[in-house]
Amino acid sequence: MAVPARRTSKTRKRLRRTHYKITAPGMSACPNCGEFRKSHHVCSSCGFYGDKEVVKVK
Ligand SMILES: [Zn+2]
Repeated sequence: MAVPARRTSKTRKRLRRTHYKITAPGMSACPNCGEFRKSHHVCSSCGFYGDKEVVKVK
């Protein structure tokens, strides 16, 4: 239920927000090299997408 902003104390607000955690967006381990990469993106360290090398990485 909506409560007027000034009825919620700084402490109440902060206590509620202690449960808010940052998470890395859509990160998963690369199946080829194990490096973390964004899911549905080409791996930046080995150039693999799925089971194929699609980009040459030096
Ligand atoms: Zn990789």
